[in-house]
Amino acid sequence: MQGFALYPFDPPGDIAALRADLRSWLAVNQPQGDVVARANCWASFDADFSHALGAAGYVGMTLPKRYGGGDRHPLERYVVIEELLAAGAPVGAHWIADRQTGPLILRYGSEEQRQRYLPGIAKGELYACIGLSEPGAGSDLAGVRTTARETAEGWRINGQKIWTTGAHFSHIMLALVRTEEGSERNAGLSQLLIDLDTPGIAILPIIDMAGHHDFNEVFFDDVLVPHGALVGERGQGWKQVTAELGLERSGPERYLSSHALFVALIDAAGPEPAPAIATLIGELAAEMWTLRQLSMSTAAKLAAGEDPMVEASVVKELGNAFEQDMPRRVQAIVDCGWGDEDDLAKLLRALLIASPSFSLRGGTREVIRGIIARGLGLR
Ligand SMILES: Cc1cc2nc3c(=O)[nH]c(=O)nc-3n(C[C@H](O)[C@H](O)[C@H](O)COP(=O)(O)OP(=O)(O)OC[C@H]3O[C@@H](n4cnc5c(N)ncnc54)[C@H](O)[C@@H]3O)c2cc1C
Repeated sequence: MQGFALYPFDPPGDIAALRADLRSWLAVNQPQGDVVARANCWASFDADFSHALGAAGYVGMTLPKRYGGGDRHPLERYVVIEELLAAGAPVGAHWIADRQTGPLILRYGSEEQRQRYLPGIAKGELYACIGLSEPGAGSDLAGVRTTARETAEGWRINGQKIWTTGAHFSHIMLALVRTEEGSERNAGLSQLLIDLDTPGIAILPIIDMAGHHDFNEVFFDDVLVPHGALVGERGQGWKQVTAELGLERSGPERYLSSHALFVALIDAAGPEPAPAIATLIGELAAEMWTLRQLSMSTAAKLAAGEDPMVEASVVKELGNAFEQDMPRRVQAIVDCGWGDEDDLAKLLRALLIASPSFSLRGGTREVIRGIIARGLGLR
């Protein structure tokens, strides 16, 4: 196979102690009660929790100290997010800012942008959303039509974004916009950091089929942002977004979204599970372990400064298949009614409704498979 190699996951420092410290912290600080918030927990908004997590040093871990970060190794951060997801912690408020906007600002942003935004991100107080998708540009991102024209006063933005997770509670949007008049496809695109309280921005909710308000439509009507809102190089938006997607696709969130259900299944099965349930638990554990090795290897490649697009896409594709299948496999085997009120039934209901979207967010299955096929020289 072309360009596909597994890397050893070798974080510095005492990882066992890091895990133990975080578990003790979670035992005291993780909100109890709402069991459904533990399913798909990286979509669960809880500003108090994010703030407390930031104060404890578990947000912005890889950012430099001079910007309020922890100067920790990316693989130490990996261990921390793995623990948070496995515990079903409500990390949705700061998730996007911590995972990709912060690192992208550090890599491509100006010094002014770093000083302005990174400390708030590291505190778990400044939230960001991703302005990529548009009605005519989802899988085909090169179809972006939202324009930003440079004027004497700054950039004037017109257009629309859609499916923007968390725009209604975010402070900033990192948007992909067309800055060069008459440009086509992936040329002429740039990234702008837009403060969402700028006049001319309208954020309208889209309610999903579970009845939740996670994503939005965002309209830009002659919105004026300063020249300094440009991130990185003008016209290099495509290259920068591709780097961002590598961070977005390979983390443990791509196979741990349904983890709370796995834990509830084990709890409900008790010490003497029926043979069919014991078999399912064993199968799920083995599959999850394999995905974990793949994801950790990809994280090691990213930490080494490489751009493992194929590996990240494989993690996303196989991870999504696993986390989407889990609720259906559990449903097929446990005796659980739609109206039951125990934890297993509540989690199962929530995930049967939410899981179809897992293979859409971050790039659809067909498109991800296309990237893998191209990367492996198969098309
Ligand atoms: C829960 C959730 C959260 C999201 N959050 C965000 C967000 O925060 N910010 C953001 O910008 N976007 C977000 N999205 C949008 C998501 O990234 C897009 O939905 C996704 O990229 C698909 O785009 P689309 O919906 O326009 O579908 P389309 O691109 O219209 O695709 C429709 C179908 O056609 C298939 N298809 C399209 N092109 C090809 C091709 N070349 N080859 C084969 N098949 C193809 C697709 O796989 C899909 O099945 C989110 C989506 C979900 C579900």
